[in-house]
Amino acid sequence: MVDKVDIDAVLREAIAGEIPGVQWLQGDDGCDCLYERIGAWTNPYLGQTHQIRLCCAWDAIAKAIPGVEAAVQTLPFYYDNNRIDPQTHQEWDSEEMDMPLGLWYRQLAVKTGMPVAAIRQEYQRRQDERPRKVPKGAGRESRQPDPKEARLALLQRLEATGWRPEDVIASFKREDQEKERCK
Ligand SMILES: [Zn+2]
Repeated sequence: MVDKVDIDAVLREAIAGEIPGVQWLQGDDGCDCLYERIGAWTNPYLGQTHQIRLCCAWDAIAKAIPGVEAAVQTLPFYYDNNRIDPQTHQEWDSEEMDMPLGLWYRQLAVKTGMPVAAIRQEYQRRQDERPRKVPKGAGRESRQPDPKEARLALLQRLEATGWRPEDVIASFKREDQEKERCK
């Protein structure tokens, strides 16, 4: 009988350096950055994995280089490639899993304007409030994008990068013909 593994605890210990050799993972809540991002280069013949915690590295770079913030943009929207209008934040809606701990802390940080570290400290003892998975059929896994809206959204993006609308529409037509042929 295998003991139940507490992944959050394992990751915490790993990040604190108590388990050597465990890699950082995207979303591991291993730092206080709002936008966790890890760059990784790994190769079997080297037998090594090189990782950069880009979010923390960026923080240090921004402090060291005045004016570099001009190259950064944060928008209060979520851009869904299948939707025309940008989306504002949404509540947890997975049918398959509870909200990941690190993501929950960061969503709370955005909602309240408090730092991630302060949120973590407060909500570590309020785990019963962590959003759980939603009933089957009510979550994002059961929703399909509207094909018409998805195409219009793609058309808009391609136009913004220099495509002529007639060329985009011609490529859609080719795609449809190909699908029809494969039926
Ligand atoms: Zn970080």
